[in-house]
Amino acid sequence: MSKIAQLAATPAFVALHTALQAQQARILAEAIAIQQIAAPTFEEAQRATYVQARFSALPQLDSLARDDLHNVYARLRGTEPNRPALLVSAHTDTVFSLNTPLTISQTDETICGAGIGDNSLGVAALLGAAELLSQSQVRLPADIWFVANSREEGLGNLDGIRAVYARLGKQLGHAIVIEGMALGHVYIGGIAVKRLRIACHTEGGHSWLHFGRPSAIHHLMRLGAQIAALRPPESPRSTYNIGLIQGGRSVNTIADEAALWLDLRSETREGLAALERSVLNLLELNRTNGVRFEVTTVGDRPAGSLPRSHPLVSLAHEALTYLGLTPTFECGSTDANALLAHGLPTITIGITRGGNAHRSDEFIEKAPVLEGMWQLLLLIGAAANLTP
Ligand SMILES: [Zn+2]
Repeated sequence: MSKIAQLAATPAFVALHTALQAQQARILAEAIAIQQIAAPTFEEAQRATYVQARFSALPQLDSLARDDLHNVYARLRGTEPNRPALLVSAHTDTVFSLNTPLTISQTDETICGAGIGDNSLGVAALLGAAELLSQSQVRLPADIWFVANSREEGLGNLDGIRAVYARLGKQLGHAIVIEGMALGHVYIGGIAVKRLRIACHTEGGHSWLHFGRPSAIHHLMRLGAQIAALRPPESPRSTYNIGLIQGGRSVNTIADEAALWLDLRSETREGLAALERSVLNLLELNRTNGVRFEVTTVGDRPAGSLPRSHPLVSLAHEALTYLGLTPTFECGSTDANALLAHGLPTITIGITRGGNAHRSDEFIEKAPVLEGMWQLLLLIGAAANLTP
């Protein structure tokens, strides 16, 4: 019998499962309540306040805190204080701007709304796990740190979880990162990501009077077209995306400034460095009189991974198999990147299935939430028993 199956059969976990079944509807309602609070990256304060209030309603938790980046912390004490603690985290921020409509629509099977899966449900699962475990008969050896962190998406650059690691890192032995969607997927590797802003500057001028002078837009577009023609290797899988472009003053002005935002990713650090070199080589080839390029790094996510044989990965495998699901192990770009880069064994798991992530018609399936939560609780229980 697997460790997970043994744990699930203990009286305390049998009772915990019963309690979970009674809470399923509440966890979904909580996900909606969280989704209704806008939380673009860097503007997570209101969601942090919500989480703080929910943690403080649980007297079994201690060390409640909030830092300058709006990370919210609470600890469930373990029975063996000298053991390294387990971090359980979910990011509060979304990719949606403050004016995005947060309207929810539901069917019997699904809930649809901007950010409902990524990551309102993740935060609801974090709160649900904190509540269920702290009010149960379960006694875990290691301390559990429940943390709702900021700045996971976009230009947040994982600064939220980095601050969490700076604060708690020394006491941690393992970490579980929760993402609302992607139940059945276990992220055991963080892909390396680098983001560059490439700006082009020229003297500009009048479209008729100064025709022939270099245009920042023309030169940037040429560079962009060359970047878009790059064919990065399939192994290590490496990708690029020009996700934003801006510049110019008016239709009859030779642009004196234009900029593009480039997202580069690779399964390995070396792959990422090679891709970045190809881009910078193209840029060198485009340097010419009267045209100045300026490159700024606006994001840098480290890479790191766990071997499939790692005990934490085995537990994730056992938990999903126990639930009758087929686990898929993959690399992604989540808060786990920053933790793995520090050598902290970390997995990222999902709570339900869903789709259209990062779109306003993002949706989640209701029914699998029960399995997803049970997976999370069993994993927390088993990981709190691991000796690092
Ligand atoms: Zn997310």
